[in-house]
Amino acid sequence: MTGPKRRDDLGDLEGYHSPQVDVAVRLNTNESPYAPPPEFFEAWTAEVSAASAHRYPDRAARRLRSALGEFLGVPPGRVFCANGSNEVLQTLLLTYGGPGRTALVFEPSYVLHAHIARITGTGVMTGEREADYTLDPDNAAWVVDRHEPDVVFLTTPNNPTGMVEPRATVESLLDMIVRRSKPGLLVIDEAYAEFSPWSAIDLVADHVPLVVSRTYSKVWSMAAFRLGFCVAPERIVDELEMVVLPYHLSVPTQVAGTVALRFTGDMDNRVASIKTERDRVGAALAALDGVEAFPSGANFILFRTADGQATWEGLLEAGVLVRNFARWPRLDNCLRVTIGLPQENDAFLAALKEVLAQ
Ligand code: PMP
Repeated sequence: MTGPKRRDDLGDLEGYHSPQVDVAVRLNTNESPYAPPPEFFEAWTAEVSAASAHRYPDRAARRLRSALGEFLGVPPGRVFCANGSNEVLQTLLLTYGGPGRTALVFEPSYVLHAHIARITGTGVMTGEREADYTLDPDNAAWVVDRHEPDVVFLTTPNNPTGMVEPRATVESLLDMIVRRSKPGLLVIDEAYAEFSPWSAIDLVADHVPLVVSRTYSKVWSMAAFRLGFCVAPERIVDELEMVVLPYHLSVPTQVAGTVALRFTGDMDNRVASIKTERDRVGAALAALDGVEAFPSGANFILFRTADGQATWEGLLEAGVLVRNFARWPRLDNCLRVTIGLPQENDAFLAALKEVLAQ
């Protein structure tokens, strides 16, 4: 084809691949199995109907940011919102990455960190985890000291491994970034924090180079709305606002984010049920011969079988879709199951037993 030639630096970049197959039990994208309550939709519809559709949305998303600030116990000036946390991560990289700069990721982790880095022209540096997917904090701090990346990503709980990073690791990485001569930024991706025992949000302060990103997609059961946010020093929030497109966050999205915070009790209940189910599924997986299950502080569990690809295909044939990492680097024979409704989890466990018995 004649026509435009894409940027040379995009190389052989591939798009994001998570096949959406129409099956009875879909446990592949870490969504919540529960919808928000009907009262949420009533309040959201009422507010959206009353909005001035012919006017642009509030560019600074003031109501949403102050509601979030109140919910999180941080000043609204430290909250930045965007269309999913992916857009938060993209805006961070557009602002603090870019040509001539580098981002460090500790693999295996959330693929979009490296992917968005490449799209924004940011060089990608890879730090390695141990064979059991834990991160050696001394090694991680050494890499940060030695290579001085401009942006360091750390995901806790990590996706796809599910592992929760100890607070001490975050503190030592932060300490290393502050002490070295070249300035840098630590981004903690907390997409699954509410399922885990701790959060780094209380480490954010105006003089600390730390950003914590979160999403409405999982615990708030609002993946369809595309809303994420980060908590960051005020100067960083101001700089992100300078870079992001004006009016990027639609009125329905801003309203949804604000209204959702009136239903925190429902959210807490959903999180509690999912955690109970996660522990039940984790114990059932651990008891199965031929399965290695990794500990999880999230709403999914990574596990390994002798032939991950065959297990994935067998599960799919039985109408259960999980995420297939079997042929990914560092994730040999691994699959990731999202915690669904109890009956979906039962269907998954029954299908897995059958597949393994064949
Ligand atoms: N970070 C992590 C670690 C994730 O797993 C995801 C979703 N898969 C995201 C960010 C992006 O979430 P969203 O854009 O839906 O907010």
